[in-house]
Amino acid sequence: MASVELEGVRKVYGGPEGHVAVAGATFTVEDGELVVLVGPSGCGKSTLLRMIAGLESTSAGEIRIDGRVVNDVAPQDRDIAMVFQSYALYPHMSVRENLAFGLRLRKTPKADVSAQVDRAAEILGIGPILDRKPKQLSGGQRQRVAVGRAIVRDPRVFLFDEPLSNLDARLRVQMRAELSALHRRLGATMVYVTHDQVEAMTLGDRIVVLNDGVIQQIDTPLALYDRPANRFVAGFLGSPAMNFVEGAIVRDGGARFRADRDAFEFPLPAWWAGQLGGRAERRLTLGVRPEHVWVSAARPEDAPAAEVPVVVDALEPLGNEVFIHATSAGHRITARVPPQEIPPAGEAGTLALDLRKLHFFDGETLEAMGAGGA
Ligand code: ADP
Ligand code: MG
Repeated sequence: MASVELEGVRKVYGGPEGHVAVAGATFTVEDGELVVLVGPSGCGKSTLLRMIAGLESTSAGEIRIDGRVVNDVAPQDRDIAMVFQSYALYPHMSVRENLAFGLRLRKTPKADVSAQVDRAAEILGIGPILDRKPKQLSGGQRQRVAVGRAIVRDPRVFLFDEPLSNLDARLRVQMRAELSALHRRLGATMVYVTHDQVEAMTLGDRIVVLNDGVIQQIDTPLALYDRPANRFVAGFLGSPAMNFVEGAIVRDGGARFRADRDAFEFPLPAWWAGQLGGRAERRLTLGVRPEHVWVSAARPEDAPAAEVPVVVDALEPLGNEVFIHATSAGHRITARVPPQEIPPAGEAGTLALDLRKLHFFDGETLEAMGAGGA
């Protein structure tokens, strides 16, 4: 296995004045690590992965695999295996032949081919279907065969480009768990591309968040969730998404946050007052996750909270929890609460924000302010 290092890797399609798909990516995938590249469609994930694979040239920067610069190394000599969204299995070949095909092309000795195919089949639990043709397989089985083709090559690095996107929701969850187990079992270096933030959170040792070709933040799933570096990362990870309320700091005795249109206001907790006190009258955005919003009447008594008058727009009961979609003078606020007494849609009510779990973002730069919660 191997590390993958990117330094200032850039891709401009259509000449120097063309479209910047990747604007200088710098990060390292450590030996044995699974790093997920996540971001909305068109943000440059596939381009970045294809540059690592050698399927796309780099406009600038350096890519190193195990310390060796590979910018000018052909894809087949990079010792990498890639799994795509479309499995592209050969329809007229059996599963066994599909698995063996790449090795045969490389003139691998017959006994080795057979051993590698058996090993991959064992790892993926596809031994019983080795003699079937692709059209006789379910979507999940085809997906396993596609992964199997990568495993038989015993590559130094695995690259995955949205490999689960063609599967239905339930199968995706199952295959996600299987890929995670596969990563642990092989101890392999993997780079995994997805637009699905849940997939990113559950699979990645670390996550690289991309937007518009620019890396927004790189960290472990929990660190990204708890300490997003900017408003984009804060809004992208988490479902339902973080609530954002535009407003400003006002000095009124102490420092207070006042939501636009005077929807609500509250004194900043001491820690935040220290961080933000000097920013009176500057625009900023309050962020709070739905799980840190309570129905006021049912909030923990000892928790510091800000009361927010709302009108309930809609309820989404999920059995084990309820999403409350509400509005406060035009600010939309979603709460994620246990099943309990909740005003029905159309009624007025009061929500409460957990003051220990606030985020603030600069109104202009959209960067997170302060170094985290109080
Ligand atoms: P993602 O995989 O994150 O959806 P891509 O890496 O495929 O995004 O694309 C990034 C950007 O580069 C998009 O704006 C896309 O339209 C553009 N792009 C991708 N491939 C090409 C190409 N071969 N020629 C020109 N533009 C491209
Ligand atoms: Mg893509």
